[in-house]
Amino acid sequence: MQWTCPIRSGAETRPDALALTFGGRRWTYRELDAEVGRWVAALQGRGVKPGDRVALLATNHAAVAQLFFALGRVGAVLAPLNARLTRAELQPLSEDVAPVLTLALTGLTERLSGAEPLESFADAVSAPVPDAARLDPKTPRVILFTSGTTGRPKGAVLTEGNFRASARASEANLGAHPAPYWLGTLPLFHVGGLGMLTRAAYDGGCLVLRERFEADDTNRAIDEEGVTHASFVATTLERVLDARKDRPVPATFRCALIGGGPVPAPLLARARAAGILALQTYGLTESCAQVATEHPDEADGRTAGRPLPGLEVRIVGPGGEALEAGREGDIEVRGPTVMAGYLNRPEATREAFRDGWLRTKDVGMLDVRGRLTVLSRRTDLIVRGGENIYPAELEAVLAAHPVVKEAAVVGVPDARWGEVPVAFVATRDGAPVPEELGAWCRESLAGFKVPARFLGIDALPRNAMGKVERTVLRERALAVC
Ligand code: ATP
Repeated sequence: MQWTCPIRSGAETRPDALALTFGGRRWTYRELDAEVGRWVAALQGRGVKPGDRVALLATNHAAVAQLFFALGRVGAVLAPLNARLTRAELQPLSEDVAPVLTLALTGLTERLSGAEPLESFADAVSAPVPDAARLDPKTPRVILFTSGTTGRPKGAVLTEGNFRASARASEANLGAHPAPYWLGTLPLFHVGGLGMLTRAAYDGGCLVLRERFEADDTNRAIDEEGVTHASFVATTLERVLDARKDRPVPATFRCALIGGGPVPAPLLARARAAGILALQTYGLTESCAQVATEHPDEADGRTAGRPLPGLEVRIVGPGGEALEAGREGDIEVRGPTVMAGYLNRPEATREAFRDGWLRTKDVGMLDVRGRLTVLSRRTDLIVRGGENIYPAELEAVLAAHPVVKEAAVVGVPDARWGEVPVAFVATRDGAPVPEELGAWCRESLAGFKVPARFLGIDALPRNAMGKVERTVLRERALAVC
């Protein structure tokens, strides 16, 4: 079975509706379809064939969206690489991809061998080639390297079928909208950004694409550009709320998905009080983004909600046995959004699955209503004298201290307990780390969870997605503890 590219479908059914905006420019579905057609011609002119791979190094730009849809029509695969990586970090990823063509945004070409400028790639072509714009759901569409917070990045291979299933499942949970406008501030080299691009297209909406996240600009887009949906990680949501102050949120705005890492419930409550329906979501690259998301009518921010329609989640114990509601264990996922496997890594692919279920490497539990609580990534879990400590729980308590701006907790080896938690704390206005933090934690946490040390830090190290780089912190903690 094949289906039509959603940009072509849009051009046929709602040609004058907006499909993409970027940098002051706007494309209707008809215009974007023609633009994508030019890209198809340019790619075919360079001999790009079905199954070929194209590597890309770019921050968010309209040309990335156009290339993405054009490659789908050609049947070729896009491998968008993280624009924050160095030349040395990019080299092995590019070798893994073995691209027939390498493109990079102006200013980034130097970082990737053989890269040609992205923006002008289709310039020589004046007219699109007539193409049927058919897409095959089963063939690889994208290679996305996991952000590598837990070791060498692996390229997850996602298909068009994965993206469409994800868009459909997300819409089924959030509710249909006549024309959703997704604010594209997440990078398009991450599943979060590509998820928004494909969701907007499959739902007949528009991607309001931005080069990067900026709090004031996000609020402007919500207030003045008719944005209906957005997606943030906890820190970016906090910055949006800080910058909004008490400005009312327009009725056009429907909801924001918050995930990518631990999401403190008080932050979601604060967002809702400010008029932003913020829904906790849980997902990963290997599952093409959302696995579970709160339902708008039931959201309380305390869980990541139920699995999206069509997806299944189970919690398993150490022997792979399924655990009942209320028991903590490893989260496993099954469904049409789950990746085919990792590029060139048969062993890692085999290890990633158990009886057809994706092993997420996250620890969590389901409640009796089927809602998922994500407790920790298995590797971030700290086991002190046999007791499990979830960094997210400590971090939420620390972040609630008035002097603490942000905090992250990692485990370090300890002769007596096996492992103990150490907290990195960034304070507001560079104030000294408060002496009473131990006592503060003890007020709401069992004694064994209280960090053994509190270390000051200017700001937590974060990757391009805004996720805390715990390996960096672990190394730092080891150096001083
Ligand atoms: P790598 O897999 O290379 O370490 P990464 O963690 O950044 O990189 P992603 O696929 O981008 O990989 O992120 C998915 C991970 O983010 C999940 O496995 C989980 O650990 C974390 N995560 C996502 N949503 C939530 C959530 N709601 N609560 C807690 N953690 C979450």
